[in-house]
Amino acid sequence: MRKIVVVNWKMNPQTLAEAVELYRFTSDVCSAAKEKILTIVCPPFVYLEELSKIESDVLLGAQDCHWEKEGAFTGEISPEMLKNLGVKYVIVGHSERRLFMGETNEMINRKIRTLLNNNLIPILAIGENYKGENLEEVLFAQLRSAFEGIDRVPSDLIVAYEPVWAVGSEEPDTPDHATDIVRFVRMMLFSNPVLYGGSVNHSNIGDFISVPEIAGVLIGGASVDKEEFKKIIEKISGLQL
Ligand code: PEP
Repeated sequence: MRKIVVVNWKMNPQTLAEAVELYRFTSDVCSAAKEKILTIVCPPFVYLEELSKIESDVLLGAQDCHWEKEGAFTGEISPEMLKNLGVKYVIVGHSERRLFMGETNEMINRKIRTLLNNNLIPILAIGENYKGENLEEVLFAQLRSAFEGIDRVPSDLIVAYEPVWAVGSEEPDTPDHATDIVRFVRMMLFSNPVLYGGSVNHSNIGDFISVPEIAGVLIGGASVDKEEFKKIIEKISGLQL
């Protein structure tokens, strides 16, 4: 079974030329490991069109989208616009959007429904805000509201367990704890891949990826550092790239 690596460049890099270079690098590294890893790269919207023209074994994802089909939503991007650019996956409910953009569970539910109606695959990010928060209650509520009104969750929908305190903090969760949570999520969504995300790097990746229930990782900061990213892919694939 291939591991899944979702790459979230966040609001990086700052120029198209850098984005193309980073994408080519990421593509080359991940193509060499494609038997072992399915890679989904989520760049900023403005680079999607150009990157979609580059032949690659990695799949393109977006970092967000709006829940409406079209209309008066200044600054927003519709699912159809993404689909027309060859995007296959969309991250929904990332903690940075929940935190800084006021994204609610209800908005996330609307986005997931729209994505499914448009044959796009959601990557749903869930996670508690602080250590010690009533975790199972928080995650259960996030999952329940995310899928409200959806009769059948398609088995390719990806869930990423990303404790908010671990995202971008250089303080990852412990593999044992992440494993417990992934198991908890899989009790509700048995057929869906569940990833871990939060300060993954080449030194800690081995402990997460060796757990059979952890289907893969979501990588933020380390994905825009070429050497670091290459080392991560080497660790996951066991290949010298
Ligand atoms: C993320 O952006 O979802 C993420 C996990 O970031 P980082 O790897 O930087 O913690």
